[in-house]
Amino acid sequence: MITSQDCLREFGDPNKEKEMVLYDVPLLLEIGVIPKRIYCSKLLVKPLEKAFEYLIMSDCVRELKTWDGCFNIRAKKCSKSWSLHAWGLAVDVNAAWNGYGKKPVLSQDFVNCFVKNGFDWGGEWKVPDGMHFQLRSLNSF
Ligand SMILES: [Zn+2]
Repeated sequence: MITSQDCLREFGDPNKEKEMVLYDVPLLLEIGVIPKRIYCSKLLVKPLEKAFEYLIMSDCVRELKTWDGCFNIRAKKCSKSWSLHAWGLAVDVNAAWNGYGKKPVLSQDFVNCFVKNGFDWGGEWKVPDGMHFQLRSLNSF
């Protein structure tokens, strides 16, 4: 799992917006609420594109009700350290139904579309953050 310490070492202060790109989502993947463009870390582009492909192939894309953002310079909930959103390495989906500390309602098939493509899921954490998927490693892509 990537920590904010890892990101500080790799990218520095999130306000510098190092290694960020405006990812133009391929037209074929703009299904449902999948956005047209996402401002994110360049490391997120490939895994996220694969996750979108899996969502579409498995028809889990119908479960994607809302896209709740990626890049956002903020601290973690209930913590002083930065969230991985601060480096554009995490995305939130279906936030209204998968709130912090609540029991997530995303299906296992939906979650697998991300987990199989290099993401950790916040829904498995001690205090669940079911809306949250973040890149698992800074090295594997
Ligand atoms: Zn999040």
